[in-house]
Amino acid sequence: MGKQIVIIGAGLAGTTAARELSQRGQSVTLIDPEAGDTYERPPLSKHLFDDSRYHLPYHLEDSELITFVRDRAVSITLAEATPESQTEALFQPGSERLAGTVHLGSGETLDFTHCILATGMEANRPEIPGYPDALPVYNLGEAEWIRDFVAEATDPLNVGVLGSGYLGMEVATAAVAAGHAATVYLRGDEPLRRQLSAPVRRALFEKHKAAGVRFVTDHTDNADIPAGEHTLFVTSVGARPVRIPINGALPTTDEHSADPEGPAPGEVPTFAWDVDEHLATAYPGVWAAGDCAHITSGRFAIDHPWACEPVAESHGKYLAEHILGEDDDLTPRADGSAPSKPEPWSDVPWHWSFQGPEKVFTAGLTSPDAQDTVQRSDPSGTKFQVFHFAGPEPEAALIGVETLNWPPMQAAARRVLGADRPMPTRAQLEDPEFDFKAHSRL
Ligand SMILES: Cc1cc2nc3c(=O)[nH]c(=O)nc-3n(C[C@H](O)[C@H](O)[C@H](O)COP(=O)(O)OP(=O)(O)OC[C@H]3O[C@@H](n4cnc5c(N)ncnc54)[C@H](O)[C@@H]3O)c2cc1C
Repeated sequence: MGKQIVIIGAGLAGTTAARELSQRGQSVTLIDPEAGDTYERPPLSKHLFDDSRYHLPYHLEDSELITFVRDRAVSITLAEATPESQTEALFQPGSERLAGTVHLGSGETLDFTHCILATGMEANRPEIPGYPDALPVYNLGEAEWIRDFVAEATDPLNVGVLGSGYLGMEVATAAVAAGHAATVYLRGDEPLRRQLSAPVRRALFEKHKAAGVRFVTDHTDNADIPAGEHTLFVTSVGARPVRIPINGALPTTDEHSADPEGPAPGEVPTFAWDVDEHLATAYPGVWAAGDCAHITSGRFAIDHPWACEPVAESHGKYLAEHILGEDDDLTPRADGSAPSKPEPWSDVPWHWSFQGPEKVFTAGLTSPDAQDTVQRSDPSGTKFQVFHFAGPEPEAALIGVETLNWPPMQAAARRVLGADRPMPTRAQLEDPEFDFKAHSRL
């Protein structure tokens, strides 16, 4: 028996893994109620009020090597958890070993030697007493509902937005850019408090206010949002991983909620699947990728899922290579030397958010509370980068970069962080004469 690879979730991580595996000649089963009709999510929050393309379908089709199962996975049982008599039957001498079984909503089951969890996240849905129709914009159905509503409106809309993370700011700024009014209700006194460092979030706050977005700060009670004021209401207060019980258990950790924005008030935190630097869960034969995975070790371990497109895609590619390469990794070398250790996942994570005309990027490890930073601007002062270091020492390593409205310099940051050579030093970055872009091309 060869590998029986089952991927749960046909979003970016799952689709990428399936495509890469099939391109290498490996058959794979992809489970998703919407398999074949899934799409990229980032355009959804950016194009609700304009005529641009608001979703990008993945062009992946059922084929000889890719089997779509249009169903929902409801649980997983591991082979090692089955009664001993059954387990015996699962071992196939000299071949791949069955690791477990996926149970589907239909009652059908699928055995696997390898399973990739790629179930993404689902939006939190707070109640807004004055706005029973309030909805997040997390999937195509929601985006289409809003676009239809916008298309039918004869007057400019008055849009209310609850939450001031990336998605909330994208919706509000897109509304204003299209000639509507937008009011953002936020918990603290500034937007993007959990996403971006002080210089970047403050610059964006000023730009969004100047563009006409209204902010109601220190908002705590949704019952205070005046009913009847807004013609459309969008909620954006984070999301949580979609989990499937394995041997009856869901992931828990005492340390961190999975949601980078934290649970919405009154909601119990949920947790992603903890994975190591090879994206392996604690369960043999089960990996996790994309938004439902929390990387706990390696260069890019953080305390919540990365939850961004480039990481989901990179995870999918990595797992395809890793799973197909595992036989090489286990085979002793002809010269008798030990097999090589598999490389950990190490692509530089990055994220973009387009908020009306403003374009903000992060690359590598950046923190909203960072103190150990150096800021560099273009001569006009309108575009700038914030360089994050591992500590206060002069020799501390560069670990991440934020970039506002300067796409070529974001590309330079990604090149530098991903390069296999020494990073520029803090002294170099503090020197106005230092050419970071030229350095990135060395
Ligand atoms: C509105 C919006 C805007 C965004 N904008 C940006 C951006 O500007 N930049 C950026 O970097 N990132 C952005 N993101 C984040 C990015 O889209 C995600 O990080 C990425 O889609 C994660 O991919 P994924 O494959 O892990 O999950 P998803 O793409 O969410 O796919 C998960 C899939 O799993 C399926 N699934 C769930 N449960 C089950 C089950 N039990 N059985 C079978 N299938 C199941 C779902 O149907 C879904 O198709 C945005 C996200 C949203 C929602």
